[in-house]
Order: sequence, then C-alpha cells, then structure tokens
Amino acid sequence: MGTNVFISFRFSDGKDLKEELVELFDESIDVYNRSEDVDRSSMSDETIQYYLYEKIKDTSVTIVLLTPEALQYRWNLILSKYDDWLYDELRYSLEDRDDNRTNGVVAIYTEESENLIYQQSTHICNICNEQQSVRSILDFKNLVRKNVLNVKDKFKSNSCIGLYDSEKDSYISLIHIDDFKKNYSKYIEDAKDKRNRKEQFELVKKM
Ligand SMILES: [Zn+2]
Repeated sequence: MGTNVFISFRFSDGKDLKEELVELFDESIDVYNRSEDVDRSSMSDETIQYYLYEKIKDTSVTIVLLTPEALQYRWNLILSKYDDWLYDELRYSLEDRDDNRTNGVVAIYTEESENLIYQQSTHICNICNEQQSVRSILDFKNLVRKNVLNVKDKFKSNSCIGLYDSEKDSYISLIHIDDFKKNYSKYIEDAKDKRNRKEQFELVKKM
C-alpha cells in the first residue's frame, strides 16, 4: 500500500524544491498539495482549519521543507498571533483527531538553511569519556524546533546526557535534502514508525 504525504513549504523559496520531490517520488508516494498561495487574509480561523483538515485528512506523513524563509512564521501584529499557512499545516498535522490521527513528520533542510539551524559545538562527558565535535540545533522559532530532541528519557537511544541520536531521538527528524533524496522511502517509513509510537515523545502541538 502506498503512503499519502502532505508537503508543507514556503511558496517564495520552497516551491521548486517541492516540485522536485514530487517528480522524484515513485508511485508508492502520493503527494497532497497545500496552497500557501491561497490568500488567507479574508478567511476565518475556522475556514482555514476546515480547509487544512480536508487536505491533511487522508495523509499519514507531513514533510516540512525548512527553506530559509520557512524557518520563521509570520506574526500578525494586529491579531497578535501567528498568521501563517506553515504554522497551521504543522499544528494540524500534529493534532490527534478521531478521523485523522497525528501524522509522522520529517523536516528537510537545505544547504542555504543549514547554518540557520545548526552550529558546531563540543561534547565532553563522563558517560562516554570522550570529547567530540557535535552539532547543536539552534533555537529557531518554529514548531519543528519544539519537536526535536523530545524523546522521553526512558526511550532515549543515545545514553550521553545532552546528546541525541539524530534519527531516533526526535519526533521530527531533521534531514539534509541530499540524504533525503537518496533514501526518501526510509525517512518516510521512519516517520510512520514514530507515529505508531508517538507516546514515547513529548509532542508540542502549538506555539
Ligand atoms: Zn558522552
């Protein structure tokens, strides 16, 4: 059986990448489009919610394209809240509804966004007795960030304090676009697997 995926992307700098992935996927993956180009300024919260529920309904995995412009959500100063398709797409993907349980999620970063997401640091600890160069995830304001490194302690696969397995210890794994393209089925299956054991993670569903 195939997998239905929902791709969440910033129209301004992620559209080409989204199309590239649609081209790349074999027939086992069906892509449901989202429509950031749809004007939402006159839509009520309920209308937006219904619109996205309908689009996400038949999907089991959401792929978030973390291009540089997708990292920060748009904030509506007048309404004093996030007013952004990308935020709504992810939070509704993470909701656990009767007719659509929580989706698995993969976040993909690009060459251009890598430095906005990661920085190098050094890990020194007395559990592994090693000093090693590791990558830290910066605190970017995005719901993806709230769902990384969020495995519950007893399920954590890396035993070092403060060190996490990049593929197993986050509900939403961050995957470089080149790695994802080479092996997308694996990453989509990993996300489905985590969806089936989501109780092992501390999910954050809104900001
Ligand atoms: Zn260690």
